[in-house]
Amino acid sequence: MQTPAPFEYERAVTLQGAIASLREHEDSRIVAGGHSLLPMMKLRLAQPSRLIDINDLTELQHITREGDEITIGALTRHVDLLESELLAEHFPIFRDAELVIADPVVRNRGTIGGSLCQADAAEDLSAVCAALKGTVTIVGADGARTVPMADFHLGPWTTAVQDGEMLTAISFPIRAGAGSAHEKVERRAGDWAIAAASAALWIDGGKITGAGIALSAVGLTTIDLTRAEDLLRGEAPSDALFEQAGAIASEDCSPIPDGRGPVDYKRHLAGVLTKRALRKAATRALS
Ligand SMILES: Cc1cc2nc3c(=O)[nH]c(=O)nc-3n(C[C@H](O)[C@H](O)[C@H](O)COP(=O)(O)OP(=O)(O)OC[C@H]3O[C@@H](n4cnc5c(N)ncnc54)[C@H](O)[C@@H]3O)c2cc1C
Repeated sequence: MQTPAPFEYERAVTLQGAIASLREHEDSRIVAGGHSLLPMMKLRLAQPSRLIDINDLTELQHITREGDEITIGALTRHVDLLESELLAEHFPIFRDAELVIADPVVRNRGTIGGSLCQADAAEDLSAVCAALKGTVTIVGADGARTVPMADFHLGPWTTAVQDGEMLTAISFPIRAGAGSAHEKVERRAGDWAIAAASAALWIDGGKITGAGIALSAVGLTTIDLTRAEDLLRGEAPSDALFEQAGAIASEDCSPIPDGRGPVDYKRHLAGVLTKRALRKAATRALS
């Protein structure tokens, strides 16, 4: 099936209007870039009764620093993340990821909010935001609430955003001694990952004081490698340590065999990519 089922369409002019409409119309959905939702509608995997287009809510398209925190609005496009010097300075992991996400057509339109809300396990930005220990802001009729990335993805294609709510932003604290990196293997340029690893390290006095590691495409959801994070904390960064973290990544992921490769190959990649991402994150933290 390559045509969507009938649906109504409206263009939201205010955030509160979008939320009111979500509450009023059962089975309505937000559309941002449309690069995930529209293909699903064409395949009839999604059949919303109404699309609420948020592309005019330009107040949600920003990358801003306030004090020691960077906030990215939900409508910020992949291309904005790719080109942001502020992000490149503090969180170079975004540029690493954006260089290997899809192609310019998708990057010009697709948004960080759509990427996180799609909750596709193969998606790169969810792993990036999980590794950086971001906090998302979700707004509903009763106001705003915040949710740590660790609690945001509840399962495949399922998030903490409830009916009648919208994701509006994600924030990251800026801390000294930070380094981050994203590593991905894909079948061809612009493809989804066979496996990808995001890593963030915070290093102080030669010791790792904090670590975030997350994997894409090797499980039913983005995988937080908490066991590897615990291993790293308090240790001095070294290749041997990162090798151990990579071994944990191979063990703690749960890939399925598909056209992108068999399980043992994906486990191997998870380990190698985790080690590479950690090594690059450490180099950046120490430079
Ligand atoms: C050819 C192609 C290749 C791709 N390759 C990659 C890749 O390599 N790596 C990768 O990570 N991604 C890839 N993508 C996915 C792409 O990055 C996503 O489609 C896109 O970023 C999702 O954002 P969107 O704005 O298009 O979301 P939409 O399609 O508009 O929405 C996706 C979902 O999120 C919901 N939503 C959107 N915004 C909000 C919000 N603010 N609050 C609540 N719910 C919201 C929608 O209702 C919908 O359920 C690819 C896509 C295509 C078409």
